[in-house]
Amino acid sequence: MHRPRRLSWRRTEIDLAGHDAYVIGFTSAKSGMALRSIITLPDKRLRIRAAPVAGVDGEVRALMDDLLESMYAAPGIGLAATQIAVPKRVMVLDVAKRQDETASSNPMFFANPEILWASEETSAHEEGCLSIPEFFEEVVRPARVRVAYLDRFGKRQEIEAESILARCLQHEIDHLNGVLFIDHISRLKRERILKKFSKAAKRESEDRKPGRHEAEAERA
Ligand SMILES: [Zn+2]
Repeated sequence: MHRPRRLSWRRTEIDLAGHDAYVIGFTSAKSGMALRSIITLPDKRLRIRAAPVAGVDGEVRALMDDLLESMYAAPGIGLAATQIAVPKRVMVLDVAKRQDETASSNPMFFANPEILWASEETSAHEEGCLSIPEFFEEVVRPARVRVAYLDRFGKRQEIEAESILARCLQHEIDHLNGVLFIDHISRLKRERILKKFSKAAKRESEDRKPGRHEAEAERA
């Protein structure tokens, strides 16, 4: 949860962990964009298959802007609407800073993205996810993909991607289908991760139970 930002960018994950930057409900006075809280395991909303948007209107653009601001704040290099509990097929990416922290930003906006083609050739790379903080595992995916989508202006576009962009596109499109990167790793590893998050959530809800602290104080 407190991964130093500088270190994060050197990692090879898709969404970089580090929730210390979250300010829930904060609205930037300068831009009008809002930071949204990112849901994490075991939140069941991560498993919802998101619905397509009818087109890119002002509301969808505002969602894209919120996603981008929340992604940068995290910091991450990709964020799907599913991760802020909005079940719409909208996502943003910016892989420009992945290799070079000083590179200028290059935000990319996607509505209704669809994988048209994936290469038979695969590549293996370590991934992480803002919704599964602190866990990183190697994931094998097609090395190249061609994706159709609507851009920020609602115009249909096609992109052929390789390397980190291809990986990030697939990771975020997975989110829109309720799929997580841990679904691509061994069952043993996946169950170990799921167990840790379920336990942590249970501990947290027990901590919040009224009366617990009072009872402890009485015993002390
Ligand atoms: Zn993710």
